[in-house]
Amino acid sequence: MSKKIIVAIDGHSSCGKSTMAKDLARKVGYVYVDTGAMYRAVTLYSLNHQLWQGSIPDAEALERHIHDIRIDFRLNTETGLPETYLNGKNVEREIRTMKVSGHVSPISTLSFVREAMVKQQQAMGLHKGIVMDGRDIGTTVFPHAELKVFVTASPEIRAQRRLDELRSKGDSMIRLEDVLNNLKERDYIDSHRDVSPLKKAEDALVLDNSNMTIAEQDQWLLDRFREKTEND
Ligand code: C5P
Repeated sequence: MSKKIIVAIDGHSSCGKSTMAKDLARKVGYVYVDTGAMYRAVTLYSLNHQLWQGSIPDAEALERHIHDIRIDFRLNTETGLPETYLNGKNVEREIRTMKVSGHVSPISTLSFVREAMVKQQQAMGLHKGIVMDGRDIGTTVFPHAELKVFVTASPEIRAQRRLDELRSKGDSMIRLEDVLNNLKERDYIDSHRDVSPLKKAEDALVLDNSNMTIAEQDQWLLDRFREKTEND
C-alpha cells in the first residue's frame, strides 16, 4: 500500500479549492477537512450571541466564549459528504450565507480564534491520510505537508462560480456585484492580516484554474497526488 500523506490546499476565496479537495479525498479514501467551515462556524456563533460592536467583533467577549464553541464534521449518509456541526447542531447551510461571508474575515484575524482552530486541525492530521483546504494550511497548520497546492483564479470568474452555487441553493436575490465585492474584501483582509496571512508556501505548486473545468482540475490534482505517493 502506498504511504499516507497530508495534502494542503490553500488559495483565494471561492476558487474551487473545496471542490477539488473533496473530490480527491473521495477518490483516494482520505479524510477531507474544510477549515473555512470552522471559521464560518465561529462567526455564526458570534452573530447568534451578538458578540459584535457594529462592524467590529467584540474580541474580549468572544475570547471568553471560545472554549464553549465545539465544531465537528459528520458524514451525511445520503450525499456521502461531511457537514459542519456547531455545538451539536447542523449548521452546514447557515454558515454559507452572505451574512456569514460578510463577517468571517474579521473573526479570522483574531489570534485566539486561529490558535484554537489550528490546534484542532493539527490533531485531525495526526495520522495523515487527510486533505485539508483553507488559507494557512501549507504555511502554518502543516508546514511539512507532502503535497501543497496554492489555487487561484480571476476574481470575476470566482464571483460567477460562487453566484451560481448560491443560486443553485435557492438564493435567487443575490447579485453578482455583491458577491464580487465580498470576495475582493475577503481576499484583502485574508492577505493582509498579521497572523497567518494568506500567502503561497514557498514549496507549494500553483494552480490557476480560471480556464479549467472541474474534471480537468481534479485530474491535475490526482496526478500530483500520485506523483507524491507512488514515486517517493
Ligand atoms: O474557505 P472559505 O471561503 O469558506 O473561508 C471563509 C473565511 O475563513 C475566509 O475568507 C478566511 O477569512 C477564513 N479562513 C481562514 N483560514 C483558513 C480557512 C478560512 O482565515 N484556513
